[in-house]
Amino acid sequence: MKANSTLRDPVCGRKVNRNKAHIVITVNGEEYVLCCPKCQSEFEKNPERYLRRERP
Ligand SMILES: [Zn+2]
Repeated sequence: MKANSTLRDPVCGRKVNRNKAHIVITVNGEEYVLCCPKCQSEFEKNPERYLRRERP
């Protein structure tokens, strides 16, 4: 994992540098960055909605 990689906030869709993210949550081995407490609570309220799907 690159320390300075940029990941997409799945809630608001912004690209967030993981070093500057509000929080990084790992679910099923995938990292999800949330830019702010608002996005975090939204993600935690309904995580399935934001998890990356397996490619068909
Ligand atoms: Zn966000």
